[in-house]
Amino acid sequence: MDVLKDILDNLNDSIIIIDGYGQIVLFNNEAIRIQKSVSEKPLEIGAHFTDLLSEEHRQTISGVIKTVRRQKKAIKNFAENQTSFGSTVFLEFNFVPVLGLKKELRYINIITQDITSRKLLERNSRSATSDFRNLLEHAHAVIFSVDSRGYIVEWNDHCAEITGFAKQEVLSRKFCDTLIHGESNSIFTGVMEKILKNESIGKVSFPLRKKDGGEATVMLSATPRTNAHGQVIGATFVGQDITELTAYRESLERLVENKTAALQKVLKKEKEAVEMKNRFVSIASHEFRTPLSSIDFATSFIKRNAATIGSRKLNEKVRVIQKHVSYMNHLLEDVLTFSKNEKGRIKLIPTTFSLDEFVSEAVEEVARSTRHSHHICVSTNSLGCLVTDEKLLRNVLINLLTNAIKFSPGKEEIAVNVLDHDSYITLEVRDEGIGIAEEELDKIFEPFIRGKGAEAIPGTGLGLSIVKKAIELLNGTIQVESEWGRGSVFTVNIPRQMVLTEHG
Ligand code: ADP
Repeated sequence: MDVLKDILDNLNDSIIIIDGYGQIVLFNNEAIRIQKSVSEKPLEIGAHFTDLLSEEHRQTISGVIKTVRRQKKAIKNFAENQTSFGSTVFLEFNFVPVLGLKKELRYINIITQDITSRKLLERNSRSATSDFRNLLEHAHAVIFSVDSRGYIVEWNDHCAEITGFAKQEVLSRKFCDTLIHGESNSIFTGVMEKILKNESIGKVSFPLRKKDGGEATVMLSATPRTNAHGQVIGATFVGQDITELTAYRESLERLVENKTAALQKVLKKEKEAVEMKNRFVSIASHEFRTPLSSIDFATSFIKRNAATIGSRKLNEKVRVIQKHVSYMNHLLEDVLTFSKNEKGRIKLIPTTFSLDEFVSEAVEEVARSTRHSHHICVSTNSLGCLVTDEKLLRNVLINLLTNAIKFSPGKEEIAVNVLDHDSYITLEVRDEGIGIAEEELDKIFEPFIRGKGAEAIPGTGLGLSIVKKAIELLNGTIQVESEWGRGSVFTVNIPRQMVLTEHG
């Protein structure tokens, strides 16, 4: 028995052996140590085991002993005891039946372990887990988890706040079906594919569908969730709501875009203005030099021959001077009209006048100023009157007729067709002159642009730009058809009755 006692005393566990009725038969040193730590009552052979226990545990343990006696099976039990120093001791009791040869109960071996440190560790880690959970639940960050099939298993308050979907509404629902749509689905699938390969994903932005039909943008990082065996069982997403940031960024981008567009517009206008100025300077210097040198030549001739010049020669020279002065006058007139036009300073004054009379007067004026170099053939079906700005329309017709004559050297005829429709009239000026190259057709209405056939023919390149603007002011349209070397047709349509707009 002493050998047995030695063995028992060297065990780390406390051993107390009782008979089937609870009387203590044997115990070891560890049992004495534990008993001392929880009670002042000493362990004694022959004492009743339950008498050693506190009031609180006595009944339970009596029940356990009865059950072990009856069932002859081991039973485990726990007890939390206060020591005399006020600390808590957690004990784990294993009631193991010791049976005789006929399976009758002979003793019950009570193996007791002090599990205080384990219990405290468990308690601490439980409270740390719950603190951590609380933190995740209420954190001001988007935190949610999905399982490996994409079903939502965690959903914190902030997720509910920004999407409007409460936790119970999304739990066990597929993230894809509930919260994202369109192309974001494929982004999410891509993320999950990487997660299932145990890879983490940093910073992906998703537009989330909100309960009210709106959209919230979140920037998320994803990490794999693993089980105790290290297998990936899903993903945890953590991130921020960047809806406002995204909207702010987009509005800034729009602002920058608009400002850039406005700036480009201003730059383009400025560039055009510089180009136009350059074209004007080169054309004006060229166009003014020719008449000025002719005037200079004529006046020098008169001066040199003042004493001998006859009246015939003098008249001839004076006519040359007058012709060139009149041409320069015409050029300046064009420049002035153009600049008035640019500044929007042309004032429309509608009057009622006969279309036929208007056409014949303009034709007459052009024929006279071009010394009847061409025959201008007018055909008209007009009977009525026009209500429009006569001065502007005259400017248009005179410009078109002058061009037709100017650009038809060596030809004889120019045709003017007047077609009177009910609500509008058509003026068609047709020539068989040099024509306009196809690639120049859409440019000739720009100021200071002259076609390749115009090099040897005087002009500023302003006429058609004035014509175009005038027709716009009259609410009309102008088209040109032309074939290089075969002639051109300019067709003007304007309303019979002018309606004054803000220009007027
Ligand atoms: P300009 O007559 O002073 O050159 P316009 O603005 O009136 O200026 O015409 C621009 C250019 O269009 C002309 O230089 C010429 O190349 C072309 N053009 C205009 N009218 C005709 C026409 N009837 N026939 C051929 N070319 C024309």
